[in-house]
Amino acid sequence: MPNHGLGMSAQRPTVIQAQACMGTADSALMSEAIALLEARYEVRRHEVAAAARLEDGRVVTGIHVEASQGRASICAESGVASAAVAVGLRVVSLVAVVRRPDGTDHLIEPCGVCAELLAEMWPSARVWAGKAGDPAAVTAEELLPYRHQRIGRLTTPFKEDPA
Ligand SMILES: [Zn+2]
Repeated sequence: MPNHGLGMSAQRPTVIQAQACMGTADSALMSEAIALLEARYEVRRHEVAAAARLEDGRVVTGIHVEASQGRASICAESGVASAAVAVGLRVVSLVAVVRRPDGTDHLIEPCGVCAELLAEMWPSARVWAGKAGDPAAVTAEELLPYRHQRIGRLTTPFKEDPA
């Protein structure tokens, strides 16, 4: 049962809890996202940062850009997707971190829009998600099992995902 007495930040794994569940490489990704928040965090404007490891091992990052018109906002994960495509390499692993106004950092999973984008682009990419202190790595494809797919458009993943 949801505990409505807890804020979302209380229910999300802290970065310490999340990093304890991750291997070295994904833990390092999380540290990259935290470093980006250190540099660019602004309450209500830039609260989420994401980092992805590409197939050659390099890391790209993205940061959430909030707009006064909600739908114009850009998620950190979408920023990462754009950065990966700009490099021209496949995403292997992705981690995102939300910083709350109290200064605590937590693992956060992609929203539905980003999950759909990631699943289309890199269905086998490992994406970290968090529920009630229980971090889990799932494939991008598993994030939205019943995601909408338009037949006839973008039917192949980015560069034929080999997995
Ligand atoms: Zn999103």
